[in-house]
Amino acid sequence: MREHISRIDLTRDYEAHREEYREAIERVCRETAFSGGKYADLFDREFAEYVGVPYACGVNNGTSALHLAMLAMGVGPGDEVIVPANTYIATAWGVSYTGATPVFADCTADTWELDPAAAEAAITPRTRGILGVHLYGQPFDFAPVKEIADRHGLFVAEDCAQAHGARYRGQAVGSLGDIGCFSFYPGKNLYAFGEGGSVTCKEEAQFRYMTMLKNQGCDVRYYHEEIGYNYRLEGLQGAVLSVSLKYLPQWTERRREIGRQYISRIRNPLITMQAHPADTEPVFHLFVVQTEERDRFVQYMAEEDVECNLHYPVPCHLQKAYAHLGYRKGSCPNAEYLAAHCVTLPLFPEMREDEIERVIRLCNQFR
Ligand SMILES: *Cc1c(COP(=O)(O)O)cnc(C)c1O
Repeated sequence: MREHISRIDLTRDYEAHREEYREAIERVCRETAFSGGKYADLFDREFAEYVGVPYACGVNNGTSALHLAMLAMGVGPGDEVIVPANTYIATAWGVSYTGATPVFADCTADTWELDPAAAEAAITPRTRGILGVHLYGQPFDFAPVKEIADRHGLFVAEDCAQAHGARYRGQAVGSLGDIGCFSFYPGKNLYAFGEGGSVTCKEEAQFRYMTMLKNQGCDVRYYHEEIGYNYRLEGLQGAVLSVSLKYLPQWTERRREIGRQYISRIRNPLITMQAHPADTEPVFHLFVVQTEERDRFVQYMAEEDVECNLHYPVPCHLQKAYAHLGYRKGSCPNAEYLAAHCVTLPLFPEMREDEIERVIRLCNQFR
């Protein structure tokens, strides 16, 4: 009997830790600590410690985290922020929500991460910062981006939505730049039972400002300092995340084991792997490969009942939502090539050995 292999299966985590999750949820319900509050605050402290920064500001999702981070960096109408063309679209939303303009830069041909040279070429007098993305759990090349930013007086923000626990030259993502943004969307390496996100920062003033903004623009209840947002993290999500965070190191280790197996054992000239530079410790949120025969490959895997999907089929600069910015095909050729040839293989911590073996065998047998 041929079994179905999903790209990701969250039911196995819930089954494994059901009692702990239920107890955490029960505590929140008993104390009715639903919006913000004790369990959201507790998770903030635990997550800050995990990332190795003084502050983590829990919010209702990763997109809000990006928005608040841009506001904390002082981004507003008329400003530009450089973002990679190949990322999930929400990276750019965070910039657009402030009234600023995302300026899309290409990725490199081998790491598929932000190309520092392309970022530098995109700088104009309006540029305020660079918002890099550790896409697929692979840290982008931070040092040259930071060097360019310093030379031009720009901030560096990190979109870590796919990279909880990843390291660059030994240092955790989210602690490298001026500010870091995380998502806890179900399926991310650390996820809530619903929606969640966090902004990590080093300065108390930034933390306080974002805490005020996410809380309807007030420090003191019913006194509103400026137009704010309802971006609070729910207590239930904080409690669930505190349970999950304990397991994140072992999940990450398992993702790495599976990633390493794919890298060393998938040997097919039709399949190209992402480059993982030696000074990075990726966390394999998504295991993306490239193949010239992408559509045929997806079809072949589907016929074998193995689910693969695409991250992402259209790069940001060619999305209809950003048509007004006037990008054309050819603006970011590496990102466009990636969009046309990427395919994501199944990878999640609870994958069984027989499933890993089957994915590897099918990849190697593809002609
Ligand atoms: C998931 C994701 C986001 C958005 O996070 P949400 O919690 O879904 O709002 C932003 N950027 C990247 C790179 C993501 O993968």
